[in-house]
Amino acid sequence: MKIAFQKCVLPSLLLLMSVGCTTVSETGRRQLILLSPQQEMQLGFSSFETMKSSVPISQDPVGNALIKKVGERIASVALLPNAQWEFVLFDSPEANAFCLPGGKVGVYTGLLAITEDESGLATVIGHEVAHAEKRHGNERVSRAMVTQLGGNLLQSGMSAHGYDNKTQVAAATVYGLTSSLGVSLPHSRTQESEADYIGLIRMAQAGYDPSASVAFWKRFAAYNQESGSGGVPWFLRTHPLDSKRIEDLERWIPEASHSFRAFPK
Ligand SMILES: [Zn+2]
Repeated sequence: MKIAFQKCVLPSLLLLMSVGCTTVSETGRRQLILLSPQQEMQLGFSSFETMKSSVPISQDPVGNALIKKVGERIASVALLPNAQWEFVLFDSPEANAFCLPGGKVGVYTGLLAITEDESGLATVIGHEVAHAEKRHGNERVSRAMVTQLGGNLLQSGMSAHGYDNKTQVAAATVYGLTSSLGVSLPHSRTQESEADYIGLIRMAQAGYDPSASVAFWKRFAAYNQESGSGGVPWFLRTHPLDSKRIEDLERWIPEASHSFRAFPK
């Protein structure tokens, strides 16, 4: 088994790693990207369809109109080529949100009480879209392929015949949609920081005041403290709030404000 791995998988792994490095233009950070744009979009679409068939979708017209309005404004400035944008409000008390590759955005009704207004929601959607724009999910899938899930996943993930079940589950886990593998693969601190920075710029470009982001994160921290038992919500586990995050946001707000463009009514 070990020999097979070294003989067969390792060379292809090294080859993939040598061709799979890209650079995030805004921050100059190097990242390992093993899935092609088509592959990550396909995984994003299938994960989203699974979500829609397994989590109830809210019929609240006000909440749906809100996430569509804010989502479309952020989408209009996002650098996500070939995205097939979709904004779905899931009926769940959890405070959670995500954007999958290909522009599939999900917001849980439990988050709306904390976002409070359009700018609060723009903070979250801007941040999540920035994760998708900078291919952070792909980076985590790539890292999982290399370090955690081994050669079988790498081979199946790279198969020309699409994805087997294991790859699909792994990708969904990485996107935070399920914990079926029993592992948690949160965004790294670096990815979080990058999504905060780019998210601020996107919300400003979409006509929202980037300084609203600090108020949202403070409300979110307060909500978590008040909610008491039941454990830390997934969104906060993967988005730890500390003084560094707030300091960084406050430092970047003046720069992001230069990107502000009044949005046409
Ligand atoms: Zn994040």
